[in-house]
Amino acid sequence: MNKNMSFFRLFRAAAGLAPARFCGQYGLTLIRGGAAALAAWAMERVFAAALGLAEGAVGIRSALLAVGGLLLLHAVSEGASYGSIYLSQEYDTRAMQSRYSELHRRLGLLPAAAFDDPETLNRIDGAYLGGGQVRSVVHYVMEFFTFYLPYFAIYGVYLYRLCPLLLLVLPTVFVPTILAQLLKARVYDELEEQSAPIRRRQERCAAYVSEAGYAKETRLLGAVGFFLERYRAARQSLDRLLRRAKGRTLAVEAAAKLLSVLGYAGVIALLVASVFRGEIGISAFAAVFASVGTVMEYCGELVGDRLGSLTESYGELKQYFALFDMETEPAGQAVAEPGDVRLKKVSFAYPGQTGEVLREIDLTLKAGETVALVGENGSGKTTLTKLLLGLYRPARGELLRCGVPDAQADLPGLRARTSAVFQNYGRYRMTLGENLTLGSRQESGAAVEAMARAGLELRSELFPEGLDTLLSREFGGLDLSGGQWQRVAIARALLRDSQLLVLDEPTSAIDPMQEHQLYQTFLDAAAGRTAVIVTHRLGLARLCSRVVVLSGGRVAAVGTHEELLAACPYYAQQWQSQAGQLI
Ligand code: ADP
Repeated sequence: MNKNMSFFRLFRAAAGLAPARFCGQYGLTLIRGGAAALAAWAMERVFAAALGLAEGAVGIRSALLAVGGLLLLHAVSEGASYGSIYLSQEYDTRAMQSRYSELHRRLGLLPAAAFDDPETLNRIDGAYLGGGQVRSVVHYVMEFFTFYLPYFAIYGVYLYRLCPLLLLVLPTVFVPTILAQLLKARVYDELEEQSAPIRRRQERCAAYVSEAGYAKETRLLGAVGFFLERYRAARQSLDRLLRRAKGRTLAVEAAAKLLSVLGYAGVIALLVASVFRGEIGISAFAAVFASVGTVMEYCGELVGDRLGSLTESYGELKQYFALFDMETEPAGQAVAEPGDVRLKKVSFAYPGQTGEVLREIDLTLKAGETVALVGENGSGKTTLTKLLLGLYRPARGELLRCGVPDAQADLPGLRARTSAVFQNYGRYRMTLGENLTLGSRQESGAAVEAMARAGLELRSELFPEGLDTLLSREFGGLDLSGGQWQRVAIARALLRDSQLLVLDEPTSAIDPMQEHQLYQTFLDAAAGRTAVIVTHRLGLARLCSRVVVLSGGRVAAVGTHEELLAACPYYAQQWQSQAGQLI
């Protein structure tokens, strides 16, 4: 049983959304189930009255009463059915939205590194589909207890009273169908595991053609056909998997149906034999004969439709529940100040990968110092900044902030006092002001000042509605150039009240002269705070008090610019090759 999400929690959440409607809906379903089951008994009374009337043993009044009783039960059953459908309508949408909110809340609690794991991404994809089915699960279970179970229980008692052997009707109809559905659940679970990665690849291909961020480049590269072909190939793979699953389940379902029909024939034979033996009267025979059709229909509904659709979405539902079982970011209690940071033999590997990206890093960052991280592509610079920012935790070794190890620290609390601008920073399709503050209560004056420090003026030609200018063509606003977006991201970082600032090469679209100025501004703004910059330009690294050279996930050298020129051949070589470009 899942620890964090069980059926009972879902049930409580569903009922708690609108308790009166919930009780009303299933109260009516209960009435419907009872009335439908009593209809078999009422039918027997009608048949008996008809026979009695023909033989002159029963008066017309009694016959009419029997017919009226049957009609009344039908009317109650139908009325209750419509009433419960009416009550469920608005409720269904609300229940679905509440499931998605819960899912989003949970996703917000997962550690950042979880999003680097393809298995988690498959799980999230499945969980979204499963989340849409959760309301159906609660509904089906409630319907089972308030409709099908009372119906079959009352009907069972009726049969038992007629002739105990007739109770065989129920297992004959149910058992083969249930077994078939259980087998189907296994097949569909396997199907979901195989489909999720293909489905994600397919969605990506569609996005490359249709999403604003990709659409232009895709057209420029003449790659629309390429992606659509990939999309089609993924579709075909999914279809193949689905066909295979359906083929496997169809055969089992057909066999189950055959068994049910044979069982049905057996029940009829049993009924006829019971009449001949005088165990049941002709009216009871007729009533049971007529109602076996309804029993088969309800069995089909319950096991075929309800259980069937649950088994088909079993894999997705499992992913939904599994997501709630994933470890959330540990909530350490110790306050971690982004002051002195000490890494003791810190290693890190991305989830699901065996190779370590950072290996036995020993490094100390003094509060208030400025450090440049340099090294070849893939040497681990970005990964190291994410550890420094408390986004990732060491796999081995220890990272201490003012002596507090990350294992015990309140990292979300720490991150509130850090700023970072990565290469792929967020371009939020919101107003300029929202892009800068992202919900934090900042004075607009401070926002404008941070913009100015990032080299962006609040001119009315560029931002006609000032901080309220919507930065999104998609939603009817305007778009900025790459360089302007980068400045917005840097202004956002400067605006935050941070003790640790990280700049990971977000300035590719800014010319070198201005880039240099921007880094200088950034470092000035960071005065008294710890700043880490990732850069390939050693002219920028030189602005920092110390430089760390990474190579293959290890610290190759640490020192001032001058010290490294003398002691680190890689650094000296890079410096030579960049001579003339540097500022
Ligand atoms: P740098 O910033 O120095 O270019 P990174 O820290 O980005 O290096 O990457 C270091 C190594 O980690 C690279 O080999 C890269 O392939 C790998 N890596 C980076 N991000 C991920 C990720 N999300 N999942 C798995 N491996 C990753």
